[in-house]
Amino acid sequence: MASEDHLTTLLQPFLDAPGSAGVLTDFDGTLAPIVDDPVGARPLPNAVATLHRLARHYRRVAVVSGRPAAFLMAQLGADHDELVQGKAAGEGLIVSGLYGLEAGSGGVVTAHPGGEEWKPVVDRMADEADEQMPDGVVVERKGLTVTLHFRTRPDAVDWVRAWADEAAARSGLAVHPARMSFELVPPIPTDKGRVVWDLAVGLDAVCFLGDDEGDLPAFDALDRLRAQGVHTVKVVVASSEASSRLLDAGDVVVEGPEGALDVLTRLVPAQDPSAPAASS
Ligand SMILES: [Mg+2]
Repeated sequence: MASEDHLTTLLQPFLDAPGSAGVLTDFDGTLAPIVDDPVGARPLPNAVATLHRLARHYRRVAVVSGRPAAFLMAQLGADHDELVQGKAAGEGLIVSGLYGLEAGSGGVVTAHPGGEEWKPVVDRMADEADEQMPDGVVVERKGLTVTLHFRTRPDAVDWVRAWADEAAARSGLAVHPARMSFELVPPIPTDKGRVVWDLAVGLDAVCFLGDDEGDLPAFDALDRLRAQGVHTVKVVVASSEASSRLLDAGDVVVEGPEGALDVLTRLVPAQDPSAPAASS
């Protein structure tokens, strides 16, 4: 756990020059508490307003997730984002969905070229999963990907993993391990690392907040950016499900979505007109 002073030092370059900095974050488990039924996940009450505040100051503010871009935009109010029309200092609130297979801003979703042709294959595997998954395993159809959630059947992890590996082998899809789930995805080389790398273009400071194994490529990307002289901050959102590998990856470890929201709130520059008045 980082000390307050350590966190303050890490965040200062962002507050000093938000116009050349980016704030990038995961969604589930980071902005939104984990729930048994993934359809019911919602960001913490103040998370959306805080992201919009950040977008008024920072060059780039993005939510990078395995969720579909349309779901993210709806949850984050980025589908009717007045920020995009000129109130933002930078580019408004951007979303990257399905690990980079979809991008969304200003209400428009753009699919990765080459992704669409895999949709029938994904649909077929989702149909088979619906028929074959053990009771309690949730099959979440996301369009270009399908996620097999075993949160409510943790005893079935090995069975689900073996099924996903076998389905991938015969369909040509790839398997992404995620938090208490496996995802079948088109074999297009996208992950959060590539997304974060692309989003960091032109920035002098970049942070990323994430809570699970699927976020490790994003943290690796920040390591590569740091080697090039970019100021980077890796914020790991801890939970009882976090691996030691994940916890070790962070410059800062915070507790749950509340801890992540605290970091985001501290990134809001003091002169933000929509921030609560300072007591001093
Ligand atoms: Mg997550």
